[in-house]
Amino acid sequence: MSDLIRMTAAQLAELLARGDVSAVEVTQAHLDRIAAVDDRVHAFLHVDADGALEVARAIDARRAAGEELSPLAGVPVAVKDIFVTRGMPTTAASKILEGWRPPYDATVVERLRAAGMVVLGKTNLDEFAMGSSTEFSAYGPTRNPWDLSRIPGGSGGGSAAALAAYEAPLALGTDTGGSIRQPAAVTGTVGVKPTYGGVSRYGVIAFSSSLDTPGPCARTVEDTALLHAVIGGHDPRDSTSIPAPVPPVVEAARQGASGDLTGVRIGVITQFTGEGAEPGVMAVFRETIETLTKLGAEIIEVSCPHFEYALPAYYLIAPSECSSNLARYDGVRYGLRVGDDGTRSLEEVMSITRDAGFGPEVKRRIIIGTFALSSGYYDAYYGQAQKIRTLVTRDFTAAFEQVDALIAPTTPFVAFPLGSRTSDPYQMYLSDLYTIPVNLYGGPAISVPCGLSQGLPVGVQVMAPAMADDRVYRVGAALESAVGTLTPPEL
Ligand code: GLN
Repeated sequence: MSDLIRMTAAQLAELLARGDVSAVEVTQAHLDRIAAVDDRVHAFLHVDADGALEVARAIDARRAAGEELSPLAGVPVAVKDIFVTRGMPTTAASKILEGWRPPYDATVVERLRAAGMVVLGKTNLDEFAMGSSTEFSAYGPTRNPWDLSRIPGGSGGGSAAALAAYEAPLALGTDTGGSIRQPAAVTGTVGVKPTYGGVSRYGVIAFSSSLDTPGPCARTVEDTALLHAVIGGHDPRDSTSIPAPVPPVVEAARQGASGDLTGVRIGVITQFTGEGAEPGVMAVFRETIETLTKLGAEIIEVSCPHFEYALPAYYLIAPSECSSNLARYDGVRYGLRVGDDGTRSLEEVMSITRDAGFGPEVKRRIIIGTFALSSGYYDAYYGQAQKIRTLVTRDFTAAFEQVDALIAPTTPFVAFPLGSRTSDPYQMYLSDLYTIPVNLYGGPAISVPCGLSQGLPVGVQVMAPAMADDRVYRVGAALESAVGTLTPPEL
C-alpha cells in the first residue's frame, strides 16, 4: 500500500508544495486504493478517475510553471452526492435523480476547484440525506471500515467511510441533524458542522432548508479546518449566507494542538449525562471530561431543560420542510419519469414517478411533513415544534452566558450491525439524540474521536456559539492532541 494514502491533507499539501510528490501521484494512489477496497466498503457512488487525473495533471503543470497555488492545490477530496457537480452524476442516492447531470457546480464545489483540489468522485448517503446509517441509499449501503458488518453512520456514511478506509484524505458532508458528526463518531474520523449560514447551501440538494449545513470531514482536526477555510464564507447566491469572513479556524486548530485549554470554560449538559447512551460510550465521555480538566479547562455543569424535546421537534420540522422541498421531483424537471405512455394524465404520471422514484424513508417523511403542515394540524404539530426550537435556542443562549463551549457524546451508541434498526424508525432516529439540539440553534459543532468501546470508535462533540467556529476547533484539537487519532484495522 502506498504511504501517500495514510497521510493527512496537511502533510500532502506540504509534500506537494515542496515538489517531493506530484498531484498525479497523490491522486493515483487514492484511485488505486479505491479500486482495491471500495467493492467491500462501497463509499463511492461514482468515481471520476479521468476527471481527477486531468485536474491533477493541470495542477502539476501550473506548479512546474512556477505559479503560486492555494495551500490545498493537488489534494484529493471526496464529495457527498448531495452537492451538484457539473457534468458528473448527482443522485442524492435516490432513484428519482438517476441519470441527471447538473448543469452547474455547487458553490462549495466551485471553491474546491478554484483551490486546485482534485475531486475524486461522489460518496454514498441515505436518500436525500434522510437517515443515520446509509442503509436508506437506493444504491445499497456503505460499510464501516472498522467492521464491514456494521453501519458507517449517516446520512454521510460514504464520506466518513472513504476517510476511514484511506480512500480520500478529505471529504464534504452536510449536517441537518447530525449527518456529518454521527458518521464521524462511528468511523473514528473528524467532522464539523459549521455555523448555519457559514458555508453556502447553493447547489446543495435541499432537504430541510432552515437546518442544512455543509461542512468538512477529515481524519484530523487541522485537516477539517483547512477544508473549512476553503469552502466557507459569504455567498450572495444563498439568501441565508452570513456576510462575514470565515472565523480563524486553521489558527484555532493549530493553537488547540498545543494542548493548553487554561481558562476555557466547558459545559457538561445535565440532561445528557444520564441514561440514553450505551455504558461504553458514557465511559469514554467521562474520561474525556477528565482529559479536558487535565488540559486546563474548567468543567461546569449546565442545565438545558428543553434539549430532550429537540428530537421530536426536529422530526416535525425536517419532514415538513422536506415535504415542500421534494415537491419539485415531479417527473418533468429532473431524472426519472415513469408511466408516461400517452394514455395517462400529467397528475397520474407524477404520482407513478414519485411512487417509483422515492424510497420508503423519504415517503414516510413526505407523508409526516404534509400532515404536520396541513390546515387544522399546523398549530398542533409544526407550530409547536417551532416553539420548541425557540426554547432550545434560548437554552443555548443561557448556557453560553456561563461557558465558552458545551460537550456531549456525539451519538448514544457505537456503529450498529447493518439491518438492526431499519425496521424501527424510532430506533434509527435515536442516533441523533445528541446531535440535533445544536442544529435547531444553528451554532457550530465538531465531533472528535475520543476512545473505543467494544473495539469501535466513540466520538465526543464540542458545541459553541454561532460564528464562534474557531472555538470548536481549538477544543477539538486539544482533545485530539491528548487522545491521538484512532487507526482502524487493515482492510
Ligand atoms: N439522521 C438525521 C435524519 O435522518 C439527520 C440527517 C442529516 O443530518 N442529513 O434526518
